[in-house]
Amino acid sequence: MRSTFYFAAWTDSGCLLGCDHEHQTVTSAEACISHAGGYVIAVEKGVLRALTDAEEAEFQNVRYGIKADARQSFTADGMLTILLTIQIRLGNEEAC
Ligand SMILES: [Zn+2]
Repeated sequence: MRSTFYFAAWTDSGCLLGCDHEHQTVTSAEACISHAGGYVIAVEKGVLRALTDAEEAEFQNVRYGIKADARQSFTADGMLTILLTIQIRLGNEEAC
């Protein structure tokens, strides 16, 4: 079993939602995104993390047809916000 998998994530009414799958590739997880503004989050050994540059490039290419060197720099900040949101949600007893 691989220690890293990916899942599709999106926000709805201020809540972060995600699919229940353990996708083996970024491309597979991207195909699972059904909401505008969706993203792919990696889980490595049970810990959420942002995509690596290579994974991000794959996501951008699959999702938007953008090559790695043309991607927008705002993505990292947006990803950090999402990860912080997840950690807050996970630490909150009240389910979203
Ligand atoms: Zn999925």
